[in-house]
Amino acid sequence: MEVRDVLIVGGGISAHTAALYTARASMKPLVLSGFEPDQLSLTTLVENFPGFPDGIMGPELVENAKKQARRFGAEYVQEVAESVKKTPNGFEVVAGGKTFAGRTLIISTGASARMLNIPGEKEFLGRGLSTCATCDAALYKNKIAIVIGGGDSAMEESLALYKFASKITLVHRRNAFRASKIMQDRVRSLKDRISVVWNAIPVEVQGQKFVTGLKVKDAGTGKETVLSADGVFLAIGHNPNTGFLKGFLDLDANGYVKVQGVKTSVPGVFAAGDVMDPVYRQAVTSAGTGCMAALEAEKFIEHLKAAGQYA
Ligand code: NAP
Repeated sequence: MEVRDVLIVGGGISAHTAALYTARASMKPLVLSGFEPDQLSLTTLVENFPGFPDGIMGPELVENAKKQARRFGAEYVQEVAESVKKTPNGFEVVAGGKTFAGRTLIISTGASARMLNIPGEKEFLGRGLSTCATCDAALYKNKIAIVIGGGDSAMEESLALYKFASKITLVHRRNAFRASKIMQDRVRSLKDRISVVWNAIPVEVQGQKFVTGLKVKDAGTGKETVLSADGVFLAIGHNPNTGFLKGFLDLDANGYVKVQGVKTSVPGVFAAGDVMDPVYRQAVTSAGTGCMAALEAEKFIEHLKAAGQYA
């Protein structure tokens, strides 16, 4: 089996950036990119990635980064990583039943949409319940939609839906949004069709064949109300995709990879992007940590060579 200088696990902007840098360092990176779309590919216009004064569409940004990495020789395999183990030469990753070997490893598996774990959620997922307004908003032309959450994602989902839906209700469990001011202001300027229900805790997604509404409980009084809707959109954050890493390296209480800079608890294994960043979670910081992980992996290989341990 060929042992690569670096295996990169993940398919988002941090993985492509790590691939670009390691390819340019002649490390012959192999990227195990999985099947789920990365978060930027589910976004519309990205206005805060430097270098694009008029913004750039999320999917285009990611595709460009991948193309750029490929231009320097990065290779991609679309398989989902299932397990990782240490070997005398470095590491082995099992993905799609096949085994891949690398002297270093960069983990860039990102994070997936968080769910509420309430009745009706599993049943109606894909039948009126969605975790991606950017993907599904067009299905709600002249329909009524609910967006759950109070962060930037919830604002963004509401704005995406505003282009199509006749009425959007933002349901938030507290009485203040955590979203950035600019996003809040945009949503507030669209009062004609976007309203907010504060202090509302979702308790059940209701429907028959498709969603018909959301039952919420008032956080103060406990009173339950049903809000009618054709679509319910979850925008309550994300969980890191680290299930396959349990027991291999240190994770924090929320499952994020524990890092010092981009170094994980296992020498030779680095992490980049949302999988290790519960704080900033921006496209540009993901690209930044992807670059850092690549440079650290390169340094690690140089140390192996200098110590006569490069086999
Ligand atoms: P987030 O900032 O973690 O916000 C999640 C929201 O969901 C919070 O308002 C939270 O309520 C609520 N929530 C969490 N669990 C819940 C539950 N079980 N029931 C009801 N509500 C629940 O996540 P995000 O909005 O996805 O944003 C993540 C990061 O990406 C942030 O750094 C954000 O700035 C960034 N982002 C940026 C943009 C942009 O700039 N265009 C767009 C999207 C995301 P509480 O407030 O009460 O905790």
